[in-house]
Amino acid sequence: MSQPLSERIKSLPASATLAMAAKARELKIEGKDIIGLSLGEPDFNTPEFIKEAAIEAIQANYNSYSPVDGYAELKDAICTKFKRDNGLAYTPNQIVVSTGAKQSIANVVQVLINPGDDVLLVAPYWVSYSAMVILAEGNPIEIRSDIKTDFKITPEQLENAITPKTKLVMLNSPNNPSGSMYTKAEYEALAAVLEKHPSIFVLSDEIYEHINYDGVTPFSFAAIPSMYERTVTVNGLAKAFAMTGWRIGYLGGPEWIAKACTKIQGQVTSGTNCIAQRAAITAVLAPVSKIQYMVDEFDFRRKRIIDLLQDIEGFTVNVPKGAFYVFPDISFFFGKKLNGTLIENASDFAMYLLEEANVATVTGDAFGCPNNIRISYAASLEEIEEAIRRIKEAVS
Ligand code: GLU
Repeated sequence: MSQPLSERIKSLPASATLAMAAKARELKIEGKDIIGLSLGEPDFNTPEFIKEAAIEAIQANYNSYSPVDGYAELKDAICTKFKRDNGLAYTPNQIVVSTGAKQSIANVVQVLINPGDDVLLVAPYWVSYSAMVILAEGNPIEIRSDIKTDFKITPEQLENAITPKTKLVMLNSPNNPSGSMYTKAEYEALAAVLEKHPSIFVLSDEIYEHINYDGVTPFSFAAIPSMYERTVTVNGLAKAFAMTGWRIGYLGGPEWIAKACTKIQGQVTSGTNCIAQRAAITAVLAPVSKIQYMVDEFDFRRKRIIDLLQDIEGFTVNVPKGAFYVFPDISFFFGKKLNGTLIENASDFAMYLLEEANVATVTGDAFGCPNNIRISYAASLEEIEEAIRRIKEAVS
């Protein structure tokens, strides 16, 4: 039988992060000793106090549909969090709870983008942004950066990328995959450009907010007064609270955008899992000090992996200030043969590491940075040390 899939789905690339994780899983099942450093997933258990809140919700018979945009108590808690951590004044009618920050982002793209609209992706950008834009029939337009500028773009680059078709800019700090963080001054400089273009909206993905190092403070783009009315702030619990599988994300933004996102959820998911939402109330209101032990551990691993990578010829490493990834430039290897395998690009290199070193990473191509690979250090120290030892051996 023919398989007449829609043009829409045929044009959609598979998620490179999830594809690499699936491939690593498959090879493990086949008996290969794979170390998976491809997925951004904390190796911690969800903290006990959050698990207890979920168990209480089950016992209290939370089993019905929640409101499509989330429980009122959770939306109140999210408003408290935005005020406390970000200095952002949102009211509950500006909040929508979704099935992961990923759905929050996809919703915003769906409700804002018409076919043919340009969406500016500040590279490196998270792998699914471009796919979400393609799904909405918009044009993903990359603004490139590299390790020399600590993976940040300049206001001039932003200005040059803007056209009459530009509808949305997608920002992400702390950044996945580079770990770079835009300072308040750097964001203000980008905002000054956007002030001249009042019809452009901004999505600020702040999912790694709490995972930051060296005393660098995260800054919310919507906290710039001139940007508040046209910025949607996305966050969630997956990363800092070790709750990836619970699938709780949320957004705060203009009420008309929140309403439209609720409308789409009403037709697509009927809202988010009710038990996870009840537990999220406890998580969102918890003082950040309750999860600091995980951030401290990530920090320890970050320092270790940077030291180890700096010791490998051909790896140029930045010092990430947030998230749990390193994003080395490995273009040194392009055009060279490693154990008889010609490395032409970052995808070849990532595949070589998988096959030769049994270490799963992700090609930088997926993030708009073709000279790099992403290595997650949200894994145990033993795994990280062994993985880098194997990588060093495979490329020496
Ligand atoms: N955000 C994580 C990552 O970049 C999870 C995987 C995904 O959803 O792409 O690895």
